[in-house]
Amino acid sequence: MRIEYDIKLGFKDVMIRPKRSTLKSRSEVTLDREFKFLHSPTTWSGIPIMAANMDTVGTFEMAKALSNKKLFTAIHKHYSVADWNLFASNLSEEESKYIAVSTGITEQDSDKLSEILKFNPNLKFICIDVANGYSELFTDFVRQTRRLYPNRVIIAGNVVTGEMVEELLLSGADIVKVGIGPGSVCTTRIKTGVGYPQLSAIIECADAAHGLGGQIISDGGCSIPGDIAKAFGAGADFVMLGGMLAGHDESGGEKIVKNGKNYKQFYGMSSYTAMEKHVGGVADYRASEGKTVEVPYRGEVETTLQDILGGLRSTCTYVGAKRLKELTKRTTFIRVAEQENKTYSE
Ligand code: 5GP
Repeated sequence: MRIEYDIKLGFKDVMIRPKRSTLKSRSEVTLDREFKFLHSPTTWSGIPIMAANMDTVGTFEMAKALSNKKLFTAIHKHYSVADWNLFASNLSEEESKYIAVSTGITEQDSDKLSEILKFNPNLKFICIDVANGYSELFTDFVRQTRRLYPNRVIIAGNVVTGEMVEELLLSGADIVKVGIGPGSVCTTRIKTGVGYPQLSAIIECADAAHGLGGQIISDGGCSIPGDIAKAFGAGADFVMLGGMLAGHDESGGEKIVKNGKNYKQFYGMSSYTAMEKHVGGVADYRASEGKTVEVPYRGEVETTLQDILGGLRSTCTYVGAKRLKELTKRTTFIRVAEQENKTYSE
């Protein structure tokens, strides 16, 4: 047994220090970024915020709405090949730039991915997603996927430490997804005691990835727009959102009416609900590692996006970053023992 004593930080432990700025208005700020990738010859530009590949978030409807604003969606892996064919045949070349096909690491997953991509060659992004990215089997799958699709952009995760980010990039990933345990409907830390505070995970993993010419996605733990700004400030190239995009018309999940108020169901992909729905229940050797919750219904996602993007532009204005790309360079975090004033919160 060993203990690392330097403290690891989450979003709640810091704030961003304001800096002198010559920007006159947040309208001068651009959130667009352009990326070239470590392996894939593709160039991508857009606003680097992503909907999570959960069936209550990363739906076809969400992808349509987000791609309209140049935001990205990792589509959940439970659509059939037929669903994909129908959806992708109605996609413009522009829209398909903002979509990833998600896959697990079984042989069936690999076969399904190959069918989806064969019929829809304009889909350029693959998201290989497992809860625990530390297994050798996972790295092998990343390597095999790179061999099969030399030109696609491969996202792989989740991990939280620099050495594993390097391993995945060297095995063929272009972008590594970072986050174990911070998610709003995640119970991994409760069930297993395993995790890593997200802000420190981003700082350490971004450093490792950027050293090799790769990128990272901060995945999970953002519950307010300020958290997204902190994730970018810490060095995330992309930020992935689950709960913040749940509860909308475009999100999956059932609508529920309770005491005259509208809600939508939202659940973790390893929750009892998800496992019942997709694999016929929780296998007897494992525990569910996700919650099922009801979130207030919030209408169209466009209103929420405006709130998020407005907040991020404002952060950039506070620190004098004319472009989102400059935000990390202009970020000084201060350690704090308080966050927002809750006097009037419900
Ligand atoms: P959020 O933005 O809601 O805080 O976090 C979303 C992320 O939580 C997802 O992208 C995924 O990485 C993670 N997640 C989703 N479902 C589950 C689950 O059932 N268990 C765990 N451990 N993590 C989950």
